[in-house]
Amino acid sequence: EEKNDKKQRMDKIKVCVRCRPMNEKETTEKARRCVDVSEKTGEVRINKKSYFFDKVFGPDSSQVAVYKEVVVPIVKEVLGGYSCTIFAYGQTGSGKTYTMEGEKRSGSEFSWENDPHSGIIPRTMNHIFDKLNSGDFSEYAVHVSLIEIYNDEIFDLLSDRQDIEKLKMFDDPNKKGAVKIKGVKEFAVSNKEDIYAIMERGSQKRKVTKTKMNAHSSRSHCVFQIQLSTKVKVEDSDGIDEDYIRQGKLYLVDLAGSENVGRSVAQNQQAREAGHINQSLLALGRVVTGLVEGSPHIPYRESKLTRLLQDSLGGSTKTCIISTISPASTSQEETLSTLDYSARAK
Ligand code: ADP
Ligand code: MG
Repeated sequence: EEKNDKKQRMDKIKVCVRCRPMNEKETTEKARRCVDVSEKTGEVRINKKSYFFDKVFGPDSSQVAVYKEVVVPIVKEVLGGYSCTIFAYGQTGSGKTYTMEGEKRSGSEFSWENDPHSGIIPRTMNHIFDKLNSGDFSEYAVHVSLIEIYNDEIFDLLSDRQDIEKLKMFDDPNKKGAVKIKGVKEFAVSNKEDIYAIMERGSQKRKVTKTKMNAHSSRSHCVFQIQLSTKVKVEDSDGIDEDYIRQGKLYLVDLAGSENVGRSVAQNQQAREAGHINQSLLALGRVVTGLVEGSPHIPYRESKLTRLLQDSLGGSTKTCIISTISPASTSQEETLSTLDYSARAK
């Protein structure tokens, strides 16, 4: 029975690895390819070490393949009224943002909607609106917010204000275990076209924050939240239609670079940032390990990130960690540490 429990918990937390192609810099540096993945068996081999994950994606894997495999089952849960989280974890330059947001390649004749390079966020919004408009729902509302957590402080990337402002987090009096962010902009999205403007706005604001705080974007976590409220008509036993309201939530998180910034020349600011990044990534690791092991005490409150995600991690939620890695020998140490971190979540 204990084994069954564990299996159920493992089904709720999936860990996938995505290896990007070798880039120009690595090729120029004559880096060796030191990572081998088998999409069939879920194995990642690096030198003589071998790791197994729920799913692995090789250098030629497409955005749509990742979406189908990882995100489709989670969106299904969210439409059913559950809260879920998808993380991208890995060293800077390994493909977290490419996976989460995707990119518009210059000269591309595509819009976000049909661009083969668009990532999880636009695909999810498309998928959700297609489902919502399919006729199964009598009414619905979709709200999104986008925040950045930098040095354990929260910044709104969608606010109308010109200046940057730190936001506070508080426990939701209406929902045990949930937290809210005071004053955060929650955008009502009415169709999928809106989302491209929202993403654009977020990335502009992120540049402003970056300049004003003299910050490096690889040192912040970016959290995109989708809140979904749907009304379905359900016939009761007397044949009378009753409204049934479901509220689902999805967090799509582009985590700070996992590289050990402490190893670089530590100026004060860098050391402090490194401390916060390591602290929150380690806190996340401990939360995930606690969930996998079925620990009675999950240390959600150790960082703003885990506190924020508390009601979307564990319990009846589904979580997926996509760990992104480089195939090059020049990143070998970082790749090993990413794989070790990810394997611990299994
Ligand atoms: P991160 O957000 O982890 O710092 P990025 O997502 O910005 O890394 O990726 C760095 C570079 O690598 C980008 O130019 C991106 O286009 C490229 N890249 C990352 N992952 C892939 C992939 N799976 N396929 C093709 N190119 C990729
Ligand atoms: Mg990035």
